[in-house]
Amino acid sequence: MSRTVVVTGSTSGIGLGVAKAFAAEGANVVINGFGPADAIEATRSELDALGAGTVLYHGADMTKPVEIEDLIATAVKSFGTVDVLVNNAGIQHVAKIEEFPPEKWDQLIAILLTSAFHTMRHSIPLMKATGKGRIINVASAHALVASPFKSAYVAAKHGILGLTKTAALELAEFGITVNAICPGYVLTPLVEKQIPDTARERGITEEQVKTEVMLKLQATKEFVAIDEVAQAAIYLASDAAKSITGTHISIDGGWTAQ
Ligand code: NAD
Repeated sequence: MSRTVVVTGSTSGIGLGVAKAFAAEGANVVINGFGPADAIEATRSELDALGAGTVLYHGADMTKPVEIEDLIATAVKSFGTVDVLVNNAGIQHVAKIEEFPPEKWDQLIAILLTSAFHTMRHSIPLMKATGKGRIINVASAHALVASPFKSAYVAAKHGILGLTKTAALELAEFGITVNAICPGYVLTPLVEKQIPDTARERGITEEQVKTEVMLKLQATKEFVAIDEVAQAAIYLASDAAKSITGTHISIDGGWTAQ
């Protein structure tokens, strides 16, 4: 029987790569995120054709708890349960703390941290009922180390690692593992959008942002590929990873080794 996988923020970037990898394995997948309706439908039908499972789209806004509840309820109504939950949706905002708009702070914390609490609290009873489950939180190297001008992002990412560990301890005896993946810089729309802002904050060119800021500590001097993150998620969701819980896998080209 196909597993059911919910991936938040999967209309683009890393989440889309993760959803694709699970769809190709034959899972039923619920994709989520924003974008033009026709582009989302094209993505959904492309993923649906990849494997034996069915791919559905749900447009829940990760700042809205009622919509998050409906996302999980829709997975249950369509496929019976949730076997794998991937919390991935994210945005970034780059500004000094004293100039950081408070509403942006709230939005980042809601999307990057609180939404995972809501998806988890609705999915955990389902996983406990089947005696198995996998929760994978796409965190960041910024869950382990900081960078200036990213206060809300770094705070939320450090927070999701704490939530990962707490949930792992609560769920260890129920056949449910909870882990984080901590990528370094991956060239997705989220990263491309912050290049001009970082250039402005630091008074440097956009090319310098890539080479002197983003890849400065990434010892490989290369961006991480989306599929590297997707394959780590596939591994964490496999039986081979059943004793891995409450921890993270860094995929950061050596960044946090320093
Ligand atoms: P992206 O911009 O390509 O994709 C983000 C996804 O989240 C999109 O599908 C978008 O529609 C969705 N989203 C945004 N706000 C939402 C909301 N309110 N409700 C529902 N969906 C929403 O970004 P990405 O780089 O693929 O980032 C995905 C995750 O990976 C994020 O959690 C990010 O912090 C993390 N991450 C990214 C990098 C990187 O270098 N790109 C590095 C480490 C961690």
